[in-house]
Amino acid sequence: MSICIPRLKPASASAALKEGKVSATELCQRCLAAIKETSVLNAYITVREAAALKQAEAADKRYSRGQALGPLDGIPVAVKDNFSTAGIETTCASKMLKGYVPPYNATVVQKLLDQGAVLLGKTNLDEFAMGCGTTDSIFGPVQNPWSYSQQYREKSAEAAQTDNGDYDWVISGGSSGGSAAAVSSFTCFAALGSDTGGSTRNPAALCGIVGLKPTYGLLSRHGLIPLVNSMDVPGILTRCVDDTAVVLGMLAGHDPKDSTTVQSAFQPFTLPSNVDVSKLCIGIPQEYHAPGLSRETLAVWTKAADRLENAGAKVVAVSLPHTRYSIVCYHVLCTAEVASNMARFDGLEYGHRCDVDSSTEAMYAATRREGFNDVVRGRILSGTFFLLKENYERYCLKAQKVRRLIAEDFVKVFSSGVDVLLTPTTLGDAPQFKEFIKEDNRTRSTQEDIFTQSANMAGLPAVTVPAALSARGLPLGLQFIGRAFCEQQLLTVAKWLEREMEVPVLQWHRAMEREHPALPHNKLASLS
Ligand code: GLN
Repeated sequence: MSICIPRLKPASASAALKEGKVSATELCQRCLAAIKETSVLNAYITVREAAALKQAEAADKRYSRGQALGPLDGIPVAVKDNFSTAGIETTCASKMLKGYVPPYNATVVQKLLDQGAVLLGKTNLDEFAMGCGTTDSIFGPVQNPWSYSQQYREKSAEAAQTDNGDYDWVISGGSSGGSAAAVSSFTCFAALGSDTGGSTRNPAALCGIVGLKPTYGLLSRHGLIPLVNSMDVPGILTRCVDDTAVVLGMLAGHDPKDSTTVQSAFQPFTLPSNVDVSKLCIGIPQEYHAPGLSRETLAVWTKAADRLENAGAKVVAVSLPHTRYSIVCYHVLCTAEVASNMARFDGLEYGHRCDVDSSTEAMYAATRREGFNDVVRGRILSGTFFLLKENYERYCLKAQKVRRLIAEDFVKVFSSGVDVLLTPTTLGDAPQFKEFIKEDNRTRSTQEDIFTQSANMAGLPAVTVPAALSARGLPLGLQFIGRAFCEQQLLTVAKWLEREMEVPVLQWHRAMEREHPALPHNKLASLS
């Protein structure tokens, strides 16, 4: 197992480290320089330059002694700023947690560090991971690196404005937009995101990379600041499916600090180099022909299904009839859990405290009014309403029953012999920032999650893979949803699709190298 440098070159970063072709310090320095070159993207909230270089030095020592820890040793990574990191500010992109420095590491962060991964910094997100654009952060929005690709600039009507501040850039998607932009712009090799309703897969798709939402319970959530406990999972963002499998292997498994994690040990796996899909049965959920699905997305979805069929797979239409309730159902369950989760932010224990001393209640209220943005406050209000004694049965209980029906739809399909489902990841390509933040942004955000939320409600693994470029030159992703704990099968078919649809990524690399010296082109490719 090794971490790939670019997916298009046979060399790999960990092999290059092992062979002494590159040092961990050099890799780290290059990534730090790339972070500076791409600061316009606003992908990082915190960059820990000195600490990262120190970690890299330690990795170099291990390599020189022949005692490398594994495939992640010396590999630069980034972590979304809603994972607790000991001694490093963890903000959730909110005023409420500005200045908060946790005393411990989230389990998945600790596992990365134990494997020798070099933690470059913490990435930007929508406040408390609520959103799908990374436009609602106190640190400002994240730009999609593809906003700077040659194709997009040529095709964008305002291409002429490239050099002034009003350049018509497109959003990264979210809420793990910082992690997706960081990986997509070559500033790190892998990043952690979180996924409650699509927050790893949505930005991965819009930024042209791979994003995995693992089965609920496969990765520990200890230290991940909760959004919706019954749906949250850490997500993995990388530039190729092989890398996802490597990182998954390092992070998965039981954690005594998270009682929802699996008891059994996880067997890390490598994916075959030649994937055979001919024995697979692929389901195409008919209800995913949703309103708002772009023609281009539909076309690439159909093309992928055809290619799978041509490669010998059985492709069948399936029905997930309760999909149509997923958005409202998610809204009730999400806000109810948010209302209870956010109660801990009261100005007493950590984070922001408002300077009001007339009464404790007044201090709480002022702190929460000041500390949270209106998205968070809105969800707390809705959730509190749904949780009222007189409303509980009507909303929360009903939503839980519908959630069960949504999950049972998947069970039925998978027990009928379907191995994986193929769906779009998003409705279309990345919207322009100025379009996205128009008034109906909130409605649009909820619609954007139509293809991703159900997997969270059912606890199933799902992965997005870059599949095409839109007419505007922006990435489009396709999603596979698999059976619970069948990540190996899921990633295997994802790798097949990635190979089949490699063209857009090639174009991206070329565009980056040729046209955009301000962004980090792939200097590391020269090593292979
Ligand atoms: N967009 C969804 C929301 O705002 C999902 C967020 C997430 O997965 N963290 O709730």
